[in-house]
Amino acid sequence: MAVLEGLEFGKSDFVLLDEVNIEQFMENLKLRFEKARIYTFIGEGVVSVNPYKQMDIYGKEDINAYRGRELYENPPHLYAVADAAYKAMKRRSKDTCIVVSGESGAGKTEASKYIMQYIAAITNPSQRAEVESVKNVLLKSNCVLEAFGNAKTNRNDNSSRFGKYMDINFNFNGDPTGGHINNYLLEKSRVVQQNGGERNFHSFYQLLRGGSDDMLKSLHLHNDPANYVYTRDGAVATTSYNDRYSHNTVLSALNVIGFSEEEIHSIYRILGTILILGNLQFETDRESVLVVGMEDVSHIAELTSTEPDNVTKSLLYRTVATGGGEVIEKGHSEKEACFGRDAFTKVLGWTHQYKTIYLSSNLTTTLGLHDRLCHINTCVCVSLLFSFEQFCINYCNEKLQQLFIQLILCQEQDEYKREGIIWQHMDYFNNQIIVDLVEQPHKGIISVLDEACLSVGKVTDTVCLESMDAKLGQHPTTPLARWLLPSDKTMEFHRDFRIRHYAGDVTYSVEGFLDKNKDPLFQDFKRLMFNSSNPVMKEMWPDGQLSITEVTKRPLTAATLFKNSIVALVEKLSCKEPYYVAYLGLLENVRVRRAGFAYRQAYTRFLQRYKMTCEYTWPNHLMGTDREAVEAIVTQHGLQDDVAYGHTKLFVRTPKSLFTLEQERAALI
Ligand code: ADP
Repeated sequence: MAVLEGLEFGKSDFVLLDEVNIEQFMENLKLRFEKARIYTFIGEGVVSVNPYKQMDIYGKEDINAYRGRELYENPPHLYAVADAAYKAMKRRSKDTCIVVSGESGAGKTEASKYIMQYIAAITNPSQRAEVESVKNVLLKSNCVLEAFGNAKTNRNDNSSRFGKYMDINFNFNGDPTGGHINNYLLEKSRVVQQNGGERNFHSFYQLLRGGSDDMLKSLHLHNDPANYVYTRDGAVATTSYNDRYSHNTVLSALNVIGFSEEEIHSIYRILGTILILGNLQFETDRESVLVVGMEDVSHIAELTSTEPDNVTKSLLYRTVATGGGEVIEKGHSEKEACFGRDAFTKVLGWTHQYKTIYLSSNLTTTLGLHDRLCHINTCVCVSLLFSFEQFCINYCNEKLQQLFIQLILCQEQDEYKREGIIWQHMDYFNNQIIVDLVEQPHKGIISVLDEACLSVGKVTDTVCLESMDAKLGQHPTTPLARWLLPSDKTMEFHRDFRIRHYAGDVTYSVEGFLDKNKDPLFQDFKRLMFNSSNPVMKEMWPDGQLSITEVTKRPLTAATLFKNSIVALVEKLSCKEPYYVAYLGLLENVRVRRAGFAYRQAYTRFLQRYKMTCEYTWPNHLMGTDREAVEAIVTQHGLQDDVAYGHTKLFVRTPKSLFTLEQERAALI
């Protein structure tokens, strides 16, 4: 059991801590990190610390060392978790999932790449061409995702600005046969604005710096990002990302994934449309607002396969239904026109990215080989730094945390049942109360927000906060409950509220919540795009066919859409066996693991490792079965009160017993 590798490296499983408290936890993490051990187990999950430098631990030999081995036979590693998930799927024909969670910059994207590479390396030993092509598509999809969904931030040159859920289907041989990717909550606002020193999504710079002259000409673009409002601030930011080179890589990946020429053109036409839209200006002439530069409008119309008049109209007017059901066209003010333009480009960016991935996932599933058996899923969750988005992502983390505790407990229970071990019930903090606070119908924060967004009169962010305070400020204060704290006098302008999240208190500024939740894209833009004669673009905007009265009746807010997608994600994950690369609730996790039996080991492997410590098993195995031999070892060391015998495994309650055995073993070899 390499989990008990030399103590100078700290404890390689947090379950082995003498006491479960934050001090010991951090001390162990630090010690291990100083010794270049970036991974530490918690049972079958792994905690990872970002080394921010290349580690020599992902080579071919490393992959071979973990391939097909039991979790604890090697030092903690992502590969150990990936292999455990893969093996469980193959052995027990059960869907498994790997959940990678952490703050922005924690290393989730890198981790999921290593996991994918591992799965690709250990599957399809016979090199069947059709499986190889599926693997190729899955691996290549990453660079497309990164181009459209990643950006340079101040913390990370290649930060994913979206959550990702990837499904890989395997056949009965355990070879990948297809996949599917869903993504969540792209940081739409980045398309129009970035913080100082940050950039827009990579794809814009890649196109401008890497696109051929012909391509740029056909898109009516110049090659310098400084020419465009949406990219000019980020253009000066230095980055290690090689835009020019990446453009070609992405183009060839799009081809490998199976995009048609027409689809690829449409993808780049939308990028061009966004850049040109960003440069559009408006001016007021007497009473009416006009677009400055009609040439740009005709380029936008050409790129989106729409009519220039319709482009102008959707930029300057919005169709609204009056109380009496009459439909009228209302001219924008200059400010409204700018707001509308930015809202349009944000949604263009988002729909575009989403659809690019959607198309690619459809194609992977049509690659044939329908003998689907199980999935391994990588679900990467991002943390964003903006108020409303941060609120959504924290809610997502609460949901995943809840799922985690439930599944881990279930997993333990299942294992004990399978092995015939008596399970002891343990109390744990169930964060359902926070999840309810956010999502409960009629009472939760999302519901209060939606109500405010849908109400007819002018509701401001502050009024909405007051309504939240009235409904939720008195949320129960039982010792374990985390609740919404009413805005107090110390908080600026009463614009803040605080949620006692599972992972700690977070203060949100309510400013902008309502606007962001409303998804205030005028229907006119949706209709414009739905009427595009380019089928790829038209298909991206099905909402454009709704009449204005239908739209007014039933708009789904951003928070509700997000909630629905997260609820669907959790439903999907909850029927799978979970493996975690986690960062939340780590102490709780250690406690859950320790409440039952911290360790379990197949009799054969246990015997293999400790046979030399017992006279009945060394040098010759004098006992009958492996289990009897293990009983002899346990009894000889006086550990019988600390273990339970399962059908195929020995269960060990505390780490102490293992230390005893390890020390005995170390003294003999
Ligand atoms: P996240 O997806 O959680 O936002 P990333 O996976 O993009 O974070 O990691 C941020 C940066 O940290 C990467 O660009 C890389 O430079 C570094 N990094 C992350 N994981 C590793 C690792 N295992 N080894 C070396 N560097 C890493």
